[in-house]
Amino acid sequence: MNGEHKITSGHRARTALVYLRQSTLVQVREHTESTMRQYALADVAVSLGWAPGDVEVIDRDLGLSGTSAAHRAGFRELMSRVCLGEVGAVIGLEVSRLARSNADLARLAEMARLTGTLLIDSDGVYDLSDFNDWLVLGLKSTMSQAELHVMAGRLQAAKLAAAERGDLRAPLPVGLVYDDEGEVVIDPDAEVSAAVADVFSCFAAAGSAYGVVAAFAGRKFPQRAYGGAWAGQLRWGPLTHHRVLQVLKNPAYAGAYVHGRHVTRKRVDADGNVRTSTAEVPRAEWKVLIKDHHPGYVTWDEYLAVEARLAANWTASGARTVREGSALCQGIIYCGSCGGPMAANYQGGGRANYECRSRRDGKKKDSCRGIATTALDDAVARVLLDALTPEQVALALAAADQVAGQHQRASRAAELAVERARYDADRAERAFSQVEPENRLVARTLEARWEARLATLAEAEQALESATAALPPLPDRDTIARTAADLPALWHAPTTTARDRKRLLRTLIADVTLMPEADRAKARIGIRWHAGTADQLIIDRPRPSGIPAPTPSPAAELIRRLGPSAGNAELVAVLAGHGYVTGAGRPFDVKAVQWVRHVYKIPVPTPVAADEVSVKDAAARLGCSTGVVYYWIETGQLEARRSGNRLCIRWTPETEAGCRDRIAASGHLNPEARRTGPRKTPRCPAEQPRMSAPSGSI
Ligand SMILES: [Zn+2]
Repeated sequence: MNGEHKITSGHRARTALVYLRQSTLVQVREHTESTMRQYALADVAVSLGWAPGDVEVIDRDLGLSGTSAAHRAGFRELMSRVCLGEVGAVIGLEVSRLARSNADLARLAEMARLTGTLLIDSDGVYDLSDFNDWLVLGLKSTMSQAELHVMAGRLQAAKLAAAERGDLRAPLPVGLVYDDEGEVVIDPDAEVSAAVADVFSCFAAAGSAYGVVAAFAGRKFPQRAYGGAWAGQLRWGPLTHHRVLQVLKNPAYAGAYVHGRHVTRKRVDADGNVRTSTAEVPRAEWKVLIKDHHPGYVTWDEYLAVEARLAANWTASGARTVREGSALCQGIIYCGSCGGPMAANYQGGGRANYECRSRRDGKKKDSCRGIATTALDDAVARVLLDALTPEQVALALAAADQVAGQHQRASRAAELAVERARYDADRAERAFSQVEPENRLVARTLEARWEARLATLAEAEQALESATAALPPLPDRDTIARTAADLPALWHAPTTTARDRKRLLRTLIADVTLMPEADRAKARIGIRWHAGTADQLIIDRPRPSGIPAPTPSPAAELIRRLGPSAGNAELVAVLAGHGYVTGAGRPFDVKAVQWVRHVYKIPVPTPVAADEVSVKDAAARLGCSTGVVYYWIETGQLEARRSGNRLCIRWTPETEAGCRDRIAASGHLNPEARRTGPRKTPRCPAEQPRMSAPSGSI
């Protein structure tokens, strides 16, 4: 070997390390020759004079890329042992490729120079303390780096040129395949293409990726395996949300050829390791985009619409999707007072309220109001149905056709599964019938396989049966046209789900706002249409929950008319005389009358007669506190009549004069005490001197 004389007994006394590296697992699997040659390096070490026991092989880095040492435990071990000075020589197939990064190799070379370690490859022996060897190794390292660069550059340029022509073959998503001429076509396997097409139609119907997942519950979705033992094979598995997004976002399904949709980015993490991640590139920055490159499942415009729909569903950016639940305006209703969104709050028993979400955050304003969902929804639905025109009915008909198509597809998928199962079973049967009877072992295996196939077929047939049975029969187009003409009936039909209503609502109405309204019995609703116009309507709020049926209006009218002058007992008698009953069918009692007064805000008649005043009025007229007046009444200085729980004072000029005299006599010395004397307090400083003096009423 070249430079063998550089190996001294000192080197041979230390360990010879054979370092093995193979970038990828594919290289390890396919370039077995290279791996064998690398392992043979141990024999080279022995032939160079090392004792077999002193030769060690480090092969922990097989299958790991050499771009950086961070994840290569083998290279790190090599470095540490060289640093410890216990290594006489490092042997590799090509020393300049020990490490693919120049920095790593430079570090190794520096350490080898300091510790007098030799580097050996098929070209010869390098003693790094020799300037000549050091220079040669440095040159080789630089050359290999340059070679990598040039190679990568050529490959990339050729790749990009092919991509620009749309000729660069990339793995196709499931549902698309290359035909014999290398053209991209829709997978001829009808079961696969139906599944992919259904993802798009389900998304059109459900409006969300989660909706597609739900629609595929119990149904499997194909996936093409790339690499590994299953390479190229079709695997059927559950459809996940991630997969749905992958399908919906893949422009290949829109017939477009795209190159550069993803980019790999490198970053250095906190530990100083270089991490590589893949990121999506915005559409405007795709390197190559060729529309109508091959037949697709959707048009380019539909692809863009799906993209917009997905962006609108992106709740992290504030969008609110259609949810289950009966509240029609869920997701598009806002509080006109604080500007925040309102949420539907379900309270059981089918009742729900829209409530300002600011309440949760403590940002609720005094003018923020909630409202029963039914009250607001009914009003909005009325406005919506009024606004629908014949053109929109035509649109609805088109939607109905789409539903019919989907209806067929749902059972079509099951039919295709049965067809496939039948084909598999037939094939298994043929294989079984062709085997010679003497070959019992094989026959037994094939029979078991045939039986398994038959079981699968039975399952598929069962699935088809239930799929057909589960689908309600579709009305014909004429029936739909007739029904569509009567929109309110269609709207309220039990077959129309809350989801359908919400989606219809959202196609026309952008948002609904519950505006501030001073009258608590009313609600002011603002409606903003997608067309750009806005409407405002005022509705009566429903009464609070838990209240029996409304009072019949003639009785309420009577109470409204007589209420301000007649007492409750009197009203009960009058109502009984008219034969009026409450909404619940019972005769009116005082409580019922009190409730009607509360609802219609009818004041109770004042018990104070024309020549009388209340304690409050008397105190106001005299400019003293009510405590003083109460004191006079309690001590008999002022005459008062009790009516219910109120005191009525007969008020004449004499009465007033008497009161003023008393105030004057008490000297007005302590106005503070007069003002603060609470009701029924025996202590009344202004009047203390008069306590002992007997005094009749004035
Ligand atoms: Zn609010």
